[in-house]
Order: sequence, then structure tokens, then C-alpha cells
Amino acid sequence: MKVTQMEILEERKKSIRCGKGDCVQTLKCDNDSIAGSVSQRACVYCGARVVLNPITDAFHIVHGPIGCASYTWDIRGSLSSGPEIYRNSFSTDLEEKDVIFGGEKKLTGAIDEIVRKYSAKVIFVYATCIAGVIGDDIGAVCRNAEKKYGIRVIPVQSSGFAGNKSTGYKAACDVLMKLMESSGQLPKPDREKSPGSVNYLGDFNLAGEAWIVSRYLKSIGVEIVSKITGDSRCEEIMKAPDARLNIVQCAGSMSYLAKMMEEKYGIPYIKVSFFGLEDTKLSLIRIAQAVGGHDAAEKLLKLFEKEEKYISGKLAYHRSRLKGKKAAIYVGGGFKAISLVKQFADLGIKTVMVGTQTGKAEDYETLRNMVEEDTVILDDANPSELEKFMKERGADILVGGVKERPLAYKLGVAFCDHNHERKHPLCGFEGAVNFAQEIDMSINSPVWAWLSKNSKGATT
Ligand code: SF4
Repeated sequence: MKVTQMEILEERKKSIRCGKGDCVQTLKCDNDSIAGSVSQRACVYCGARVVLNPITDAFHIVHGPIGCASYTWDIRGSLSSGPEIYRNSFSTDLEEKDVIFGGEKKLTGAIDEIVRKYSAKVIFVYATCIAGVIGDDIGAVCRNAEKKYGIRVIPVQSSGFAGNKSTGYKAACDVLMKLMESSGQLPKPDREKSPGSVNYLGDFNLAGEAWIVSRYLKSIGVEIVSKITGDSRCEEIMKAPDARLNIVQCAGSMSYLAKMMEEKYGIPYIKVSFFGLEDTKLSLIRIAQAVGGHDAAEKLLKLFEKEEKYISGKLAYHRSRLKGKKAAIYVGGGFKAISLVKQFADLGIKTVMVGTQTGKAEDYETLRNMVEEDTVILDDANPSELEKFMKERGADILVGGVKERPLAYKLGVAFCDHNHERKHPLCGFEGAVNFAQEIDMSINSPVWAWLSKNSKGATT
């Protein structure tokens, strides 16, 4: 096939800043995807499931065709220190007959079966595209089940056409608020709250990352009341109103919840990131300043000294092998993209393209101030745009999620999974080393030289 110059759809041009001399100053973002653009974004239901699935003792029923249920623990390495029920994907398996006559009866049957077999205490029922199209009243089915069994059966309003992945995040946050209200108790007044108590929002405990952060916080005298939602339990989430501060890592999915909790329970929040040395240290300092005791600064210094002693030699080794390389980033939210640009800079790597699925205007503003003039910045990209800019700017590696992996490999570019399937932590001090090692091994793998030599003459 002949190689053709890839064009950008006219409607997409306002969502891309191509670098030097580009007149697009403020990116169009936080909007529905353009029809025909083949967005890399996940659907509403997936957005909700990402957030709620790590609640390890809840039952997750997907009300839809069986295919939707394939989005489960197995494509997300969120770990549990206790219950494992979240690793199951229950589905009503809607079929043609249900689409014609309605699926409410089937959903009632599924809830009955789960209560009977597992003595469930909390069940989430996810709406999917089909449930939305046929108009099943999931809310009514859940209310009836709650009355019948005296347990929490909470509908997740995540039917496909309600919006995009961000809408799914909001649907999940609404569910989390409902869960918090379930205890029926008033939150503790401020004077009774433990001084160093925080909720940790937006860490889904991929490869045990929430445990690493918990360890750091514990060492400076800060206690996590509720992890929302990595390795969390329903009861733990119900206690979240008793914390003094919310620390928000994945701002894309959790800012909405943090704002609701501030309004309803008077809990302030700060945004943090534990990706990369700079952001990890900065985040810990800000948490210590906000809720740490009188000796928190001293404890922090000890922690930094201990951790950096262990990693500095290893990082120096990887820096020496990576200097001058070029990276492309395409991830879910803005906070991760910002941290990754800093991490690459620390490794001597220039970011030549950076984009997100659900970034906000302030994220793109921050990115614009961080990257070089000729770096491409883009929101809600499609594969063709990613391909074009990676080729044009000569990226040596793409950092993304599971949907970006085949694209990188087809282009003969190294890839780093910073999302779904990874099995090693990338956060904190040890994560910074893991990240540098993975980037080094991927970029400097002999396979790329072999591929380029042996694919000469091939066309795309
Ligand atoms: S909810 Fe809709 S878009 Fe999402 S997996 Fe199911 S059918 Fe696909």
C-alpha cells in the first residue's frame, strides 16, 4: 500500500497544539469525542468500572451483553490484601429476547442469585449501552432489592450514550457518595478527628501502589482512613467522612468526589502525584504540611535520605543509557501526563508528544508551560493522529495503556504500559527505578535495530 500523508480532521484541529508557531493557544478539551474520529477513550461504563472495581468486597453486576463484562479485574492489576470477590464479573448476559421484552426480570434474578449464594452486603449494578437503549429501570430494580434484602444495591448510571469516560467517573463518584451515606451515622466533628487522618483518592492499587504510599504516609505519622478505591472495603469507604483531609492522586476521576465531600462534609482536598521523584517528594511535603505532626519534617527527611540512598546509583545508570532519547505520552488523565513529562526530563529524555483522554484545561496549560515549544499536545486523540506525530517527531518510546500498545509495536517503537496490565509498581521511589529500568530495557532492546534492518522496503 502506498504511504500517504495523514491529515487531521478539521473538527479535531482545535484539540491539537502542533508546537512552534501554532495558533492554537487554548486546547479544546473536556468535551464529547468527534463522530468518526475513532477516539482512544473508553466508554462510560468502563470509566465507572475502573473506579469501583477495586472495592474488593463488593459484588459487581454488569447489566448488559456478556461482552461488557469482559472488562474486569483481569485487565486491571488492582491488588487486594483480603477479599477477592471483586475479581469476579457477574453479568445478566442480555440477549436478543431481553432487548425486545426488557431485562429487568433477568436483573432481579441475578441479584436474588447473588444474595442467595454469597450473602452479599453491597452490590453495584452497572448500566451499559444496551440497558440504556432498552430503557430498563435499573434504579427501581435496585430499590426493590434493597427493600427485600435490607442490603445496599446501588445502581451505577453508566449507560453508554450518557457521555464519555469522564461521565463514567462521575457516575462512580455518585455511587461512592451513596455508599458513604449508608452508615447512617453523622461524620465526626473536626475536634474529634484524628489529626493526621486522610482519605487517599484516585489510587487503584495497581501492583500494590497504594500500599507503597500507605507505607510512606505511615512513616511520617499520617494515617489513611479510606483508600478510594484501591484495596478498599465497603465499610472503610463509609468511614471516609471522618478524615481530616482528602489527598487526590487521579484528579481526572476523583476531583468530582473530592469537591462533593468538601461541600457535604467540609473535608478540604489537595492534589498529589506519586509518579516520579520530584512529585513524590513534593506531595509528601504538602501532606506533611497539611496534617503532619510537629516532627513530620524530620521524619520526611529521614524517609527521603533512606529511599534516595537506595535508588540514586540505579537511576544514574539508567540516565547514562537514556540521555537524548525522545518520548511520546498518551495516558488517561492530566496528572499522570504532567508527572511523566517531569520523569522523562529527569532521565534526560525529551517529550515530543503528550496527550490525554480526559485532561482538563488547567492540565493542558500546565503541560504547555513545561514542555518545549515544538512538543505536540493533544486531547482525546485517535490512532491516526498518534501515529502521525510519533513518526514526525521521531519518538523512541510511547507510554500509554493497553489500547496504545499495538500501535507502538506496529510502528516499531518501544512501549511502556503505564495503565491496565502492569504487574510492577511505578509509583514512589522504588517505582521511579522500575520506570527508568523499563524505559531503558524497552528503548535499548536490540529488537528495534533488527526490525528496522529487516523491514527495509516494506510499506505501511
Ligand atoms: S457499555 Fe457499550 S461501549 Fe461499553 S463495553 Fe458495553 S457495549 Fe461496549
